[in-house]
Amino acid sequence: MSRFLSQKFASIEPYVPGEQPQGRQYIKLNTNESPYPPAPGVIAAINSEEVAKLRLYSDPDARPLVAAIARRFGVGEDQVFVGNGSDEVLAFSFLAFGGEEKRFRFPALSYGFYPVFARLFGVKYEAVPLRADFTIDPADYIGCGTNVVLANPNAPTGLALGLDVIEEILRSNPDSVVVVDEAYVDFGGESAAKLLEKYDNLLVVQTFSKSRCLAGMRIGFALGSPDLIGDLQRMKFSFNPYNLDRLAILAGTAAMEDEAYLKSCTEKVCATRRRVTDRLREMGFEVLESKTNFVFAKKPGLPGTRLFAGLRERGILVRHWDDPLIVDYLRISIGSDAEMDTFLSAVREILEEDAK
Ligand code: PMP
Repeated sequence: MSRFLSQKFASIEPYVPGEQPQGRQYIKLNTNESPYPPAPGVIAAINSEEVAKLRLYSDPDARPLVAAIARRFGVGEDQVFVGNGSDEVLAFSFLAFGGEEKRFRFPALSYGFYPVFARLFGVKYEAVPLRADFTIDPADYIGCGTNVVLANPNAPTGLALGLDVIEEILRSNPDSVVVVDEAYVDFGGESAAKLLEKYDNLLVVQTFSKSRCLAGMRIGFALGSPDLIGDLQRMKFSFNPYNLDRLAILAGTAAMEDEAYLKSCTEKVCATRRRVTDRLREMGFEVLESKTNFVFAKKPGLPGTRLFAGLRERGILVRHWDDPLIVDYLRISIGSDAEMDTFLSAVREILEEDAK
């Protein structure tokens, strides 16, 4: 930290992303990326002609992409906001709707970026513990009177709330914004997008990074009332009007238009998830019932650090946290069938080694 850093940022603990190794080839099961390539239309859209156009700025309104998202969700174009990853969309949401009095409430065990955004933007927040079984207690959010952000399905647990609960939270907090972060919704959750007509306090946030196989392109979006979307635009146009580059707009448009490809990728991931869950349970693991492209699991008696290190030695990266509540759990992204076979063999090997 230099002596020049503003005092107000001195105590911020930045978010720590999962490792992106540059040397050795690892099987990457640590950042919930897709094991499958982007849709064929994406690869076709990024050609040398488009690369040559990079001398020009991108469209600050990202029109074709916004139009494709609006068509897909059956909403107006003025109900769509696009950002540089859903991280940026979430950041703008904290910036726009939070403050000293306008608190945000979210689960204490959820996406680790929420408290970081809150601290960066000076937003007061309440991090509410989950129940012992890692479920969210709806009573903590119904009528709470603060802004709410809920990852649904939640991360790193993979558990989802039903839309009836989301609706009750929206209905009982009419003067607060309820952000539903649906990064993983396409792997078995139910989107709150269908509630947009009824609730002007709902902001649905989704990403192209998981089910649309485009983590490296950095595209996320929000759906909401034209007023809420206007507020996010106000943030963006006061910060970085060209937040999506030309190639991201093209790639995102092509990906959004290929719903069949999304379906085939998510179906494959869900089938692999079922198989991995069953195999881990056969080996004595406790595995939460995931609605995402990862599983959250522990084996009683086996320290999470031991399994994490054993996998790493064998060239497999998974996610582990030091938080005592989940220190023995690993979050394992669902890779291809071949990758998961290698993962399962490595787990078996580590268990056998420890049994000696
Ligand atoms: N929300 C949740 C719950 C996530 O796990 C992630 C991925 N780390 C994001 C949002 C952000 O994803 P992206 O910025 O790639 O859209």
